[in-house]
Amino acid sequence: MSMQEDNRHLEQSDRHYVWHPFTQMKEWEQETPVIIAEGRDCFVRDIRGKWYLDGVSSLWVNIFGHRKKEIDDAIKAQIDRISHSTMLGLSNVPAIHLAEKLVTIIQKELGTGQKAKGEDMHDTSIRRPLALSRVFYSDNGSTSVEVALKMAFQYWQHLGEQNRTAFLSLNHAYHGDTLGAVSVGGIDIFHKAFGPLLFKTFSAPSPYCYRCELGKEYPDCGLFCAVQMEKILKAHHQEIAAVIIEPLVQAAGGIIVSPPGYLKRVRELCSAFNVLFIADEVATGFGRTGRMFACRHEDVMPDILCLSKGITGGYLPLAATLAPEHIYKAFLGEFRELKTFFHGHSFTGNPLACAAALACLEIFETEDTIRNLQPKIALLEDWLREIADLPHVGNVRNKGLMAGVELVINKQTKEAYPWEEKMGWKVAYHARDNGVIIRPLGNVVVIMPPLSISTENLRQMLKVLRHAILSAVS
Ligand code: PMP
Repeated sequence: MSMQEDNRHLEQSDRHYVWHPFTQMKEWEQETPVIIAEGRDCFVRDIRGKWYLDGVSSLWVNIFGHRKKEIDDAIKAQIDRISHSTMLGLSNVPAIHLAEKLVTIIQKELGTGQKAKGEDMHDTSIRRPLALSRVFYSDNGSTSVEVALKMAFQYWQHLGEQNRTAFLSLNHAYHGDTLGAVSVGGIDIFHKAFGPLLFKTFSAPSPYCYRCELGKEYPDCGLFCAVQMEKILKAHHQEIAAVIIEPLVQAAGGIIVSPPGYLKRVRELCSAFNVLFIADEVATGFGRTGRMFACRHEDVMPDILCLSKGITGGYLPLAATLAPEHIYKAFLGEFRELKTFFHGHSFTGNPLACAAALACLEIFETEDTIRNLQPKIALLEDWLREIADLPHVGNVRNKGLMAGVELVINKQTKEAYPWEEKMGWKVAYHARDNGVIIRPLGNVVVIMPPLSISTENLRQMLKVLRHAILSAVS
């Protein structure tokens, strides 16, 4: 078969055999799919030989670009030892090293003012959050959330608080696609259809200042959205196992950046009402917001922390849910008591993925990634200002290298494009034609390149997006 025939065969086979996620396949079947064959640094190449800038970090996971030597080497070295072994009844070397490393890094980043491991282990008042000291592995963001929800629920059951069967989450929240994660989700387009299958969740307003659902303006609002959360907690805290939020940025909801003080306030409310606080840092973790973790911006220690995506540098599926000692201890008991946390997946703690994660965390240190990121973030913010002035750009928001450009019909009235008009997609297709891959969220154009992107490539990406927006809205 010639190369061209080979490519055509691949395209046809994709249409015939593959069912793509979050994709209307009726449309897909009529398109020529872009099939990626190779990647290098911040670029990916399709089977026809065209290179694209990976402006979505291969769905928000890639941190140091593709084929990063240190990560490649770590995985290859691990393959020569063992690729997979179970964590059910056994342990493995990289999983142990990684757990220790994660606990240390998180303590260093978020541990200010926390109590040391072991201290106050039986403190169930949770007035002050304790250090995260235990790592429970799974394999993707949704499962890390699933683990957090089940852990929080069962924790209270073990403490004898049988009524804590509900959760509190935010409108516009996205925590994954498994049913537990969908239960705490707040994006109707994705989640409503599954309503009858979901457990009870209270919804608090999203801290979405551009379209404040409470009709307020920051800062005069006095964080009125948090006041609404407080009201719910006041009335229902005895039924609520945990509050779950995406700290600082509601990512899939449209890169909704919460106003300063909101995250800290949520932490305070959880402590005041004795409800666990779950931080879902699946999207925001590992430098994406300009700090190692979003919680670091407001010096917040969650009770349970969900990590995935960037943890392996975006190489392999891995997730970790971290808990403090007092939650862990609540699951200890005699075998017959059935206090065991009955949860775990075939690929939990996969050694290849853990080896990749260890290499990734080492690069953060050797390359001083977070510090070196700061000038790049400042440049991005400068260049985003040029985009904010464009017609039909209603709002531009960012935290670190996560940015969203919200397109509107009318800048004054903020009238949104009808969803069916696919305005975000029109921009994405223009950008793709010009060598930049992005994936919109409704009318929000998302900018989420690998942290290692060069300033030249970032500039180029912004230029392409500017042009793509102008072409799409005209
Ligand atoms: N939580 C957040 C905050 C996310 O952004 C995502 C994915 N975009 C998830 C959970 C789910 O992760 P995954 O797709 O790996 O299941």
